Amino acid sequence: MSPNWYTNIPEEIVTQSLPIRRTPASKPITCIVTSADLIGTFTHFYRGRTTPCERPDCEACRDGQPWRYHAYVGAWSRNSGLHFIFEMTAQAAEKLIEFRTKYQSLRSCQIDAYRWGKRSNGRVILKASPSGIAPTDLPLEPDLVKCLSVLWNIPLPDLETGHTTKNSPAVTIAQKIATTRLGTHAT
Ligand SMILES: [Zn+2]
Repeated sequence: MSPNWYTNIPEEIVTQSLPIRRTPASKPITCIVTSADLIGTFTHFYRGRTTPCERPDCEACRDGQPWRYHAYVGAWSRNSGLHFIFEMTAQAAEKLIEFRTKYQSLRSCQIDAYRWGKRSNGRVILKASPSGIAPTDLPLEPDLVKCLSVLWNIPLPDLETGHTTKNSPAVTIAQKIATTRLGTHAT
């Protein structure tokens, strides 16, 4: 009996997702976009967590729940080195769409965003400008659909274990890793 030592992170415990961050109320957020493009979808806050709207066949819609559109991009903080998914409202996303129209890609775009009036539900004021950082100096572009599917517990055909079905309780990343390690299939 002897331990196994690795010079890389073993593939089975590599985290399959990135955390989501929104514009905080208290202070501005600055980050660099790592995605070439944004993706967006309608979501509900349903049964205590965010879940994508699946209209025309959507349980939350049938329950009369309100929906909101959110857009997402991969984002990297130059200060902390954290790579995360930045969530924004449609109105904030318009600035990124303008940037995309002008520069063809969002990758390496700098986002400076804050909440109007420092209120948690205040309008997000977002500025998009070229960061000057070479795309090769940024983290690899994340698979946004895959990351959000992990966070929202949506089954994906090519996603391995550590990923439960949509209607099961939310699981934490730590639990996902543990499940993956054990190689068990959650049901
Ligand atoms: Zn819905």
